[in-house]
Amino acid sequence: MKALYKYAPGARASRLEEHPAPQLTPRDNVFIRVSVCAVSAADLQIYQGKFSSTPPFIMGHEFVGEVESVFPGVTAVAPGDRVTVRPYLYACGQCQSCRDGFPQYCEKKQFLGVDRDGALAEYITLPEEYLHKIPASIPDNIACLAAPMAAVAGELSPGLLRPGDTVLILGSGLTALLALVAAKAAGAQKVIIAGVTQDRPVRFPAATALGADLVVDTLTQDLPAVILEETQGLGAHLAIETTGTEAGVNNAIDCLRVGGRMACLAQSQRESIAAKWDTAMEKFLTLRFFHTSAYTEIDRALKILEEYPRELKPLVTHPGRLEDWERVFETLSRGGGIAGVLRIRPL
Ligand SMILES: [Zn+2]
Repeated sequence: MKALYKYAPGARASRLEEHPAPQLTPRDNVFIRVSVCAVSAADLQIYQGKFSSTPPFIMGHEFVGEVESVFPGVTAVAPGDRVTVRPYLYACGQCQSCRDGFPQYCEKKQFLGVDRDGALAEYITLPEEYLHKIPASIPDNIACLAAPMAAVAGELSPGLLRPGDTVLILGSGLTALLALVAAKAAGAQKVIIAGVTQDRPVRFPAATALGADLVVDTLTQDLPAVILEETQGLGAHLAIETTGTEAGVNNAIDCLRVGGRMACLAQSQRESIAAKWDTAMEKFLTLRFFHTSAYTEIDRALKILEEYPRELKPLVTHPGRLEDWERVFETLSRGGGIAGVLRIRPL
C-alpha cells in the first residue's frame, strides 16, 4: 500500500513509500480502508522537524475510512461502517493519570501517526474501542475534522463558556475557526476573531462565513480599544488563545473583563514567554491550559459538524490527493491557509 512515511528525524525527511498493509490482531482488531486524512498542525510540525518524535513511522491521524473487516468478537463496528478515531491509543487504565480520569496523559498511551503508524496510508488497523461511526450526512472532508473539533468543543464545555458570553478568539487558523463554530453552538452571543494581515485573503472571509461577528487585524487595529468598544467598556468574558505567542497571550489579558476566563490552546514552543502577570491578577482572571485533549467529546463534535457541514466547507483550503502531499504540506507551511485534506481512496 502507499503510505506517507517519516523516515528520519529533522526537517522534511518524509516520502511516499510502498508498505505492506497492516494485519488484524487481537488488539488492533478493525481493518479500515482510509478515504481521506487531514494534515494536522502536528503533521506539519513533524514535517518541519519541530515535533519531538522518533521516526520511522507512517504519519497522519485525522482520518475517515471504511471498515473492511474485523477480528472475531468485534461488536462496536462492522464492515461498511464509516469511522474516525480518537488518536490517543492504548491507555493502560491502571496508572494514576488513567485512574484520575486523564487517560490522554497515560504514560503508556501512543499517539497515532507519531508513536505508531498513522493514517496517511491506504489501510490501517485500530482497536474498536477508539473508533466512532460517522453520520452519512457529513462529507469526508469535513468528518476528518472531528478530532480537532472534539478537542475545541470539549475545552469549551465544562463551564468555561457561558451562554451570552462575548468571546474573543486570538488567531484565525483551523483551531480558532473550529472554536468559533463551537462557541456559537455553545451559546456565545458575540464572537470576535483577531488575526494578522497575512490572514486577510483566506482566513478572514472564512471567519465571516462561519459566523464571526467581527474580524480584527491586530497589526493595523488597536485590539483592546475595539474590544472595549464592542463590550460597553467592560471587556470580553472569555478569550480563546490559539497562537501561543506573547502578543496573543497579552492581548487576551488586556481584552478580558474583571472575572474573565482564558483558555490557552497553543504551545509557545519556547522556554518561556513574558505575560502581563499583574494585569491578569488585578482582573481576577481564570486561566486554563489545554495540551493533550481528552477527545471524549467526539460524538458531540460530530453533531456540530453534522449541523454545519456546508458552512464548514471553506475550512478546507488545500484539498489534494495523497500523491499531492508535498505541495499541500509546503503550502500550509508557508501559512495563511486553513486546513489541508488528502484524498487517499479515489472517489
Ligand atoms: Zn494509564
